[in-house]
Amino acid sequence: MSDAADIPVRVRPGIASLPPYKQGTQAGPDAYKLSSNENPFDPLPGVLQAVQSASAFNRYPDATATRLRERLAARFGVTLDEVHIGAGSVSILAQLVLATSGPGDEVVYAWRSFEAYPWLAVLAGATPVQVPLTADSRHDLDAMADAVTGRTRAILVCSPNNPTGPVVGQDEFDAFIQRVPSDILVILDEAYAEFVTAPGAVDGLTVLGNRTRGGAELPNVVVLRTFSKAFGLAALRVGYAIGHPRILDAARTTAIPLSVTAHAEAAALASLDAEEELLERVRHIGARRDRLAEALRDAGWAVPQAQGNFVWLPAHENTLAIAETFTAAGLIVRPFAGDGIRISVGEEESVDEVLRIAASVVEDLP
Ligand code: PMP
Repeated sequence: MSDAADIPVRVRPGIASLPPYKQGTQAGPDAYKLSSNENPFDPLPGVLQAVQSASAFNRYPDATATRLRERLAARFGVTLDEVHIGAGSVSILAQLVLATSGPGDEVVYAWRSFEAYPWLAVLAGATPVQVPLTADSRHDLDAMADAVTGRTRAILVCSPNNPTGPVVGQDEFDAFIQRVPSDILVILDEAYAEFVTAPGAVDGLTVLGNRTRGGAELPNVVVLRTFSKAFGLAALRVGYAIGHPRILDAARTTAIPLSVTAHAEAAALASLDAEEELLERVRHIGARRDRLAEALRDAGWAVPQAQGNFVWLPAHENTLAIAETFTAAGLIVRPFAGDGIRISVGEEESVDEVLRIAASVVEDLP
């Protein structure tokens, strides 16, 4: 095969040099896959049943997933047009960035955070503006507000932050939003919201609730959530946004039509039917996470606040070597070279294995 440079087809500048989105390493049958923040529980029988009996394969799905929107609107006390469904929340992120930001515009987010942020900004032709996390791996919302310029069109706030784990506080978010001009979209990415147990953490639905209850006017905040993590539907690709209808209309316009399947919608609805049972699992994962994070700290790791379904090991320049040790032990983790390792909270049996390996390599830290 010839080198890409030899191919005459012109790819947009910026795209040719942009690496494709890279997912966590897949695991063999004998390994624990702890690299993609997935839910380790098997699907509930009722959810499987709903997928099987969803509409026929030869028919297109309902383009706006009305039944699921109705259900979520009732669940969260918002109107139907304040809910938008996407093929995973990453699709909605892409739609919103594309709808707001183009060449010459800036997209502000904390770094390190979700890998898709810089990638989506560049895809839209916009300029990514990364604001370093604090020393304890939190968003620095003051610095993020300071980074806003006349070109800023979107700000992405991730709470709990993937991959480091801490939440943004409700009070600091409220103060931050007062400093952001109202013509800039603020996306509050709460992919891991259901795992949060820390008091005082921001809750996007409270933020939006204040708006509908006549509190602060916040039409520029959109909250993103997903069925991939707490509800264990990562394979089916279904997430949602709640926010002002005008903003969501822009997302609906930039969306690839019909990408939410009837099967994904059916699974999400069945999951909401079984919400209590699924949230009980989430509480188990949260307890497992707390046990893991605490034991890692006891072993000498500077694990920051862990509020998602994962923990962060700041392994700095030893990241790749230490990740290799985990892999050799059958634990597939997610290394971010030069920075740290994210480990999902998986099966109960994997927790002791993670602890054993983490304790054995702690003295390799710089
Ligand atoms: N936001 C964050 C912070 C994430 O970590 C992820 C998935 N890793 C997503 C959004 C996207 O999830 P999905 O598309 O599966 O809803």
